[in-house]
Amino acid sequence: MASQIKDLSKLCIHTQTTKPWDIDACVRNYSMKGIKGITIWRNVLENKNLNGVKALLDDFGMNVVSLARGGFFPSVDAGKRHKAIDDNLLAIEQAAVIGAPMIVLVCGADGGQSLEKSREQIAEGIAKILPAAQKAGIKLAIEPLHPMYAGDRSAINTIRQANEMAEMLHSEFVGVAVDVYHTWWDPDLQAGIQRCGEQKKLFAFHVCDWNVPTTDFLNDRGLMGEGCINIPEIRTWVEDAGFRGFIEVEIFSDKYWAMDQKAYLEKIKQAYLTKT
Ligand code: ZN
Repeated sequence: MASQIKDLSKLCIHTQTTKPWDIDACVRNYSMKGIKGITIWRNVLENKNLNGVKALLDDFGMNVVSLARGGFFPSVDAGKRHKAIDDNLLAIEQAAVIGAPMIVLVCGADGGQSLEKSREQIAEGIAKILPAAQKAGIKLAIEPLHPMYAGDRSAINTIRQANEMAEMLHSEFVGVAVDVYHTWWDPDLQAGIQRCGEQKKLFAFHVCDWNVPTTDFLNDRGLMGEGCINIPEIRTWVEDAGFRGFIEVEIFSDKYWAMDQKAYLEKIKQAYLTKT
C-alpha cells in the first residue's frame, strides 16, 4: 500500500464547490487556507479577461489542475454536434491561456438515441478535438458518470467504458477521471482503476460523498465522511495504481452553498485531512 500524504499539498478544490464565489474570491480564499490546487469551472471565466485570470493564479501560486468541463458531444442533431466541437475547441483555447494542463470531459448523451450511438458520437467528438488538444499540450480526461445520468449527461457510465474509450483513442493525451461519486458502487472499480494505471491513463481523482438518503441527484453531494463511500479505500486503489496528482474536491450542494463559504472551506479542509 502506498503511504498516504495527510497534508494539504495535494488538495485541489473545484470552483463549483464554492459556487457563490467568483474566481477572484476562490483563489484568494483557497490560498489563504493553504490550498494549492484549483480546478476551474468555465462559468467563472465568463466575461473575464483570461490573461488577468492567469496573472491572478500566478500571483497566488495556484496550480490549475483542470478546466471543467468539455464534452457533451452526442446529439441527434448534427448542428448541435458541430456546435459541441466548436465549444470544446474554445475550451482548449481557454485552458491554454489560463495554464490548465487538462480538460475534464462530461461526455454527454442524447435520450433520443441509443447509448451505443451516443458512445460512437463521443468517440468521434474526442477524435475531432484531439489534434488541437495535443497541439496545445492539453490532456483530455473522460469522466464516467453515474448511470442515473445516462439519459442526458453521459453515455459513459463505468470505469470499464471509460478505459475502453480512452484505450481505443490511443493517445497519451486521452485518459480517465475517476470520481468516487460516480463510480463507488461499481464492483469492477478496483480492477478498473488498476487497469487505468497500467495503461498510464489515470489522469484525475475527484472526491465527495454519497449522502444516504440522497435528496437530489445533482446538488446533494456530501462532504467526505458524511455518506456511504469508502473514500480512503478508493484513494488507496488510485495511489496504488500510480496516481500522484492532486485530489480534487468536487461537491455540488445546495446545503453547503447556502452557508458561509469561509466556514465551509474550513470544513472541507478538515474532511480532506481526516476522512479522505
Ligand atoms: Zn467529477
